[in-house]
Amino acid sequence: MNLILLGPPGAGKGTQSVLLERHFGIPQISTGDMLRTAVKAATPMGTQAKGFMDAGNLVPDHVVVGIVRERLQETDCLAGFILDGFPRTVAQADALSESLSQLSRALDAVISLQVDTDALVERLTGRRTCKDCGKGYHLKFDPPAVNGSCSVCSGELVQRDDDHEETIRRRMDTYHQQTAPLEQYYSQSGLLVKIDGMDAIDDVHRSILAYLQAS
Ligand code: ADP
Ligand code: ADP
Ligand code: ZN
Repeated sequence: MNLILLGPPGAGKGTQSVLLERHFGIPQISTGDMLRTAVKAATPMGTQAKGFMDAGNLVPDHVVVGIVRERLQETDCLAGFILDGFPRTVAQADALSESLSQLSRALDAVISLQVDTDALVERLTGRRTCKDCGKGYHLKFDPPAVNGSCSVCSGELVQRDDDHEETIRRRMDTYHQQTAPLEQYYSQSGLLVKIDGMDAIDDVHRSILAYLQAS
């Protein structure tokens, strides 16, 4: 199963990827997570990416294309993968298609999560992440058992630097300008499936599985 999860910031790509990863036993490949790890480790790539991320802009295509190309060659991707937050531009989608054909692989579906703008903003402002294990939460929609503390590892829950109102607005604009055209792109190749992302987390998961099992 080779999947892409598409959707604006806050649509639930990360949340659904983790559930799909668990269900199918195939890895989630999140370019956002990989970039944040590089920023934290202050690698040359992370240092270069940080300015773009803080501003709510996209990191240059060649940087993310390079990361994904390497990641897809790792053995755990042989059974399949879930791309979360990649591709985000037509150039990235073209590069992905080239990489996959070199590996003699093909995409099975591009799942596009449909969520209203008001809900996106509420999801992003309430999003919290465990500092230690990276598990995602939401203050209202997916709260931890104990306030401020990860239910898995008791790590501290923190807010992402870019989940503040001004950056959120910029990220939404970036999405509409550079990423939304991918719906049309994948619709032309017959891979696009729109899933209602407004339901509760478990219901969205069930909708995705129902589609994949029927297809
Ligand atoms: P979101 O929760 O908004 O979907 P991500 O965690 O996927 O955010 O990405 C956070 C930031 O990392 C983006 O705003 C962007 O700067 C950078 N980023 C992540 N994936 C990509 C990509 N495929 N291309 C360019 N930049 C990316
Ligand atoms: P993305 O990766 O698309 O940016 P996330 O998966 O990080 O989005 O979800 C953004 C926030 O919204 C998180 O705090 C998450 O817990 C919450 N969330 C995800 N899916 C839903 C849903 N179906 N209903 C309510 N909140 C959700
Ligand atoms: Zn944790």
